[in-house]
Amino acid sequence: MKFRPELEPLRPYVPPKSWRMAAEGTDENGYAKLTSNELAFGPLPEAEAALAAALPRANRYPDSHVSRLRAAIADANPGSETRNVLVGNGSSEVLLNVLQLLPGGKVVYPWPSFSLYPMLCAVMGMAARPVPLTEHSEIKPEALLSAVTDETRAVILCNPNNPSGTYLPLERVRELAGELPEDVLLIVDEAYVEFVDDPAYRDSHALALESENVVMARTFSKAHGLAGLRVGYGIASERIADYAERVRFPVSVNLAAQVAATASMLARDKVRARAEFVIRERARLQDAFRDAGLEYITSQGNFVMVRFTVNDFEKAGVLVREGEALGYPGWSRVTVGNSEENERVIGALGQP
Ligand SMILES: *Cc1c(COP(=O)(O)O)cnc(C)c1O
Repeated sequence: MKFRPELEPLRPYVPPKSWRMAAEGTDENGYAKLTSNELAFGPLPEAEAALAAALPRANRYPDSHVSRLRAAIADANPGSETRNVLVGNGSSEVLLNVLQLLPGGKVVYPWPSFSLYPMLCAVMGMAARPVPLTEHSEIKPEALLSAVTDETRAVILCNPNNPSGTYLPLERVRELAGELPEDVLLIVDEAYVEFVDDPAYRDSHALALESENVVMARTFSKAHGLAGLRVGYGIASERIADYAERVRFPVSVNLAAQVAATASMLARDKVRARAEFVIRERARLQDAFRDAGLEYITSQGNFVMVRFTVNDFEKAGVLVREGEALGYPGWSRVTVGNSEENERVIGALGQP
């Protein structure tokens, strides 16, 4: 039996310790789980009610077109129509689907970034071309542009970037889109867009509507607090959305995901209020890191990279993501939690 050689370096996803503890049923001992950039709060009551109402219909296949969710997404992104909306089993599937539209070739992305990108490239048989962040972990559009060649099919821009939390202002993203050759797709992964507090970073989806070569990928896994249900979306030109729908598995977005995400999107004012809480708490954590004399990276996500070890956090009952796995040895990525969890993070700083 011969397998594709490009799969050789791939390994199954190694989840953070908190996932393993939950799987083993040993997570009762009161750790704050700040490993995976999830929201500290459960789904909105509106989403829970929609889930409960849909459960008796679980014997039936859901709407394969995902119409109601697409309509709610289009409504939340002024100027877009349902025919501009991509959907998927998490934004992971949206990212996969758009890469599936492209001929073989190379994919450029800043690095360190989301571990899914190299994995998707390998699965697609495309060559990954990671471009280092600057020494201050900033994304450098000029460096991305100089990495683009005739063989480049896509640039993936995680904005804000996971794990650094740094971001490219919207004007720079627009410039980058304009400077790319028109047959290179710019995929902007906006998983954390709800947590950006730059007032100029608004209505970024308009860029995808006005360009033939830009896709915005978003998710319900972070600000909407629905990571367990697996649903994401994208905004793009009609043509990209049409093609993406050709490669998507017909019923990839399950019934629970459809109804909960629709309800959550319709209640988006509440989602925004929760994101504003996260933004305030992020500032509180960053202030505490600064006061403790720790190096950290100013973040626009719901997480902060800080030079403080996983073990020192764990002693204080806080589980965070190991920086080693993210390209920052000796650092930790701390997800912003609820008030009590963030207190515990701050308390940990005085311990070692
Ligand atoms: C969490 C995250 C996602 C979300 O993935 P889903 O499949 O929607 O859960 C996407 N991109 C980045 C960079 C992330 O950190």
